[in-house]
Amino acid sequence: MKTQEKTSRFRLRKPIIFLIITAFIGLTLYTINFRNDWMFGLMDTLFHEREGVLLEVLEYHSQDIESIPLDELSSLSTNVKTTNSLSLINRKHRIDDDLDFNLVNFRDTSLLVDENIIDDLENLLHDVKQNTDEKVYIASTYRSAEDQERIHKENPRIAVPVNTSEHQTGLALDLYVSKKAQREFIDTDAGKWIHHNSWKHGFIIRYPFLKRYITGIGYEPWHIRYVGKPHAEIIYKNRWTLEEYIYSLEEDVYYAVNGYVISRQCPRNGELDIPKGLEDIEISPDNTGFYIITGKME
Ligand SMILES: [Zn+2]
Repeated sequence: MKTQEKTSRFRLRKPIIFLIITAFIGLTLYTINFRNDWMFGLMDTLFHEREGVLLEVLEYHSQDIESIPLDELSSLSTNVKTTNSLSLINRKHRIDDDLDFNLVNFRDTSLLVDENIIDDLENLLHDVKQNTDEKVYIASTYRSAEDQERIHKENPRIAVPVNTSEHQTGLALDLYVSKKAQREFIDTDAGKWIHHNSWKHGFIIRYPFLKRYITGIGYEPWHIRYVGKPHAEIIYKNRWTLEEYIYSLEEDVYYAVNGYVISRQCPRNGELDIPKGLEDIEISPDNTGFYIITGKME
């Protein structure tokens, strides 16, 4: 009786094991033959070591902190800039009316981008040309809500619903080089350079390989997102997504990273607590109910 049970269990397991092995071989062959982007992502994950960035906790005495009302921030001093660089936009954190975007034309094109990214974007495009001798073009930048709605209706599998797309912020860009767009972008030297170096200019690969379970979107080597410095470096070197980075910042803690101070806070009585003596302060809502303060140490 026992032997019979064992035999029937083995008979059941046999086709399942066969199916798993066939699926694995099929996926491997498909990846090798048709998905250079997955191959790149896999090799990068397995073999390209990145030195992580440590977020060191700083202690401040209360006399070294200034509580500043949110609505007085930008008028207070030229040392403080309000941006949207760290606003998290995804299906869970939608764009709402509180986010106010300042869009400008990129060079003399009709492409609109957030005014705060212009200098870093110019430097990025210059740097990639210098290092790879390939010219990178911009396929898509800002999209209006109407555009996003239309694109989503036309192709709901590819484009996300309105108010869940970073393209509506002017902080995200789709890049390509001649004849190599979308997932083929990573086949080019420029695509690979962007992957490993765009953080130097404040940009990240927003939808990394194997992080769909966090971002909700599969690997997109062509889609970069501006988050600013030093955040892009932290995200790249720690192999994080924007989601993971923002949630790694504990509320009301001050962190020191490469000469910067970073703090994520929920306004108390409409005020944020800003350490005295910081320079080039930037304050961005993170679109999860908090603000992220970034400033250079003296
Ligand atoms: Zn995109």
